[in-house]
Amino acid sequence: MFDDTLRLFFALPCPPEQAAAICAWRDEQAFDGRAVPQDNLHMTLAFLGAQPKDRLDALLAIADTLQGTAFDLVLDRLASIGKGFVCLQPSATPAALLSLVEALDERLAALGVVLDSRPFLPHLTLARQARSRPSAPAPDFAWRAERFVLYLSRNTADGPRYDELGSWPLLVP
Ligand code: ATP
Ligand code: MG
Repeated sequence: MFDDTLRLFFALPCPPEQAAAICAWRDEQAFDGRAVPQDNLHMTLAFLGAQPKDRLDALLAIADTLQGTAFDLVLDRLASIGKGFVCLQPSATPAALLSLVEALDERLAALGVVLDSRPFLPHLTLARQARSRPSAPAPDFAWRAERFVLYLSRNTADGPRYDELGSWPLLVP
C-alpha cells in the first residue's frame, strides 16, 4: 500500500562512545526484555508520529530557527517506566533541555502538529517488554549534548531503524 507519511521524531542521539559504554554495562545486567540496539540509543524530545511527506521541509525549517544551548546530560537513574521500558533518566533535568523541548513544542504546535498530551519525560530506553523491574545500582553515564536531530523511524526486517534527516547544533552558552 502506498504510504504518504513519514514516522518522525526529534531526539538527542546518544554519541557512539557513550552508547557503547551504556550497552556494555546494560548487557552485563540481567535485564529481561528486548535490548535496544546500540545504534538506536537516544532521548526523544518530541514524537511527531506519522507526518505527511510534504510537511518535511517545514519541519526542517522550524528546527533551523531554534537557538538551543549545549548542556551536560547526566543519566544517573535507572528506572522502569510505562509498560516494561527499562530506562536511564537524569535525576535533574537540565534547564537547557526543557527550554529546547518547549521551543520545539511551541513551533510544532504553530505548524499544526499534534503532540502526545503527556508531559515530557526525559529517558533513554535500554530494553523493552521487561517483565521485572531492574534492581541494579544506579549507573552514572553522561554526555555533552551538542546537537539534536530529526529521525525518520522505519520498520525493517532487523527491527526499527532511525535515519537522521537533519542535525542541528546546540550552541555553547
Ligand atoms: P517500535 O515501535 O517499532 O518497536 P520504536 O519504538 O523504536 O520502534 P518508534 O515507535 O518510531 O520506534 O518511536 C521512536 C521514539 O519515539 C521512541 O523513543 C519512542 O519511545 C518514542 N515514542 C513513540 N511513540 C510515542 C508517543 N506516543 N509519545 C511519546 N514518545 C513516543
Ligand atoms: Mg514504538
